[in-house]
Amino acid sequence: MRYISTRGQAPVRDFAGVLLAGLAEDGGLFVPEAWPVVTPADWRSLRGLPYPRLAARVLQRFVGDSIPFDTLCAICAEAYAKFDHPAIVPLVQLETGLFVQELFHGPTLAFKDMAMQVLGRLFDHILRTRDARVTIVGATSGDTGSAALEACAGRDRIDIVILHPHERTSAVQRRQMTTVTASNVANIAVEGTFDDCQDMVKAMFADAPFREEMRLSAVNSINWARIAAQVPYYVAAALALGAPDREVAFAVPTGNFGNVLAAWAARRMGLPVARLIVGSNRNDILARFLESNDMSIATVEPSLSPSMDIQVSSNFERVLFELLDRDPVATTETMRGFRQTGRMAVPEAVWKRARAVFHGFRLDDPGTEAEIRRLHAATGYLADPHTAIGVAAARARPPAQPVATVAMATAHPAKFPEAIARATGLHPALPPRLAGLFEREERFTVLPNDLSAVQAQVRALVGRNRG
Ligand SMILES: *Cc1c(COP(=O)(O)O)cnc(C)c1O
Repeated sequence: MRYISTRGQAPVRDFAGVLLAGLAEDGGLFVPEAWPVVTPADWRSLRGLPYPRLAARVLQRFVGDSIPFDTLCAICAEAYAKFDHPAIVPLVQLETGLFVQELFHGPTLAFKDMAMQVLGRLFDHILRTRDARVTIVGATSGDTGSAALEACAGRDRIDIVILHPHERTSAVQRRQMTTVTASNVANIAVEGTFDDCQDMVKAMFADAPFREEMRLSAVNSINWARIAAQVPYYVAAALALGAPDREVAFAVPTGNFGNVLAAWAARRMGLPVARLIVGSNRNDILARFLESNDMSIATVEPSLSPSMDIQVSSNFERVLFELLDRDPVATTETMRGFRQTGRMAVPEAVWKRARAVFHGFRLDDPGTEAEIRRLHAATGYLADPHTAIGVAAARARPPAQPVATVAMATAHPAKFPEAIARATGLHPALPPRLAGLFEREERFTVLPNDLSAVQAQVRALVGRNRG
């Protein structure tokens, strides 16, 4: 299995190379050179498998011969062993034709664990076989950071530095990061937005000497391995609802476009997915794009669903590349123009192709609270604000044919107690694994939105640990 960059100027790599590199050297994102094709018989052969086994089988399509299948099975078994639900990714029916798939039963209570628990172990395996080490840098609007830290803390071939926007994450989200105190971990609170943090990570990768010296690697959703590890739960949901003989639709609360891209990838591999509904909060650049071909950057506004407070959805570049018939020159030009002008010029025909699959949906904070309340009153189900947007999106944009729609439940309601309390009067308890979170000591450094200050901090951590 080989991977190319969306911008066409980076060397072709195998899965292990893509995992370690994260972002391609030309600023593009890695995508499979050719998409794996899965036949209906292949899909059927996955029916009824325990989730870790199914995940290994689907992942194998992307891993190729980078990792032996037995090792991959062991990695998946271990990754999901600590999850709090025997089904790992249970489907819950809310009403006729409407389901949620709960992706939050991992150690940090958000869907990022689904991929990150696999990724930490993939890194371990590959670094050991190569006798190498890496420095992982990542930007997070909340959940990626804690999931990455949980997956990497204490692993002796990895240093990890996570940037989060100062005072723009929930208290639970921040504490899940800043109370991880392993010696290979540093948390930096940047005085800026999530997009500033993400730009900073990109700038560190673009600084070739720094990248080389630190052996930088990324685990945010630009890393292809993250996307690959998110494909299996779409497969599991679709199979449970009758695929490959029946179509399904997915509604995905979206920020950086990684989760919904995994659904798109499953569709591209032949899973019968009728449509993908992209849920947004008031930061609605994707909804505006899908509604009226208006992909223009506005300022990021904090919302009840902070993991979706994003204007530039990095992973969109991967879909853009496909929509542009995999033309790296056109992709590069479109992304450059977007950077320079804050507006993406997408030809009408290309936009229409996007609309054939993706549908946009937006819900502001009052609407999100109302949906949490409505859903709880109607069904007894408690949804966190991100999940509530997914459920509302699924209800607002039902497919024309009767097709089951699955809303992705991306976070546990206890991660967002204030919103739940305001909407329902209930105070969801933190699950036992997070008990004591508010008593633990926090450790993080607040830095200005300044590249050299952040680079100095990364150097300090790495210098200490490489000794
Ligand atoms: C990360 C996250 C999202 C957004 O997912 P993307 O892959 O970035 O689109 C939605 N909800 C929650 C709870 C998240 O943690």
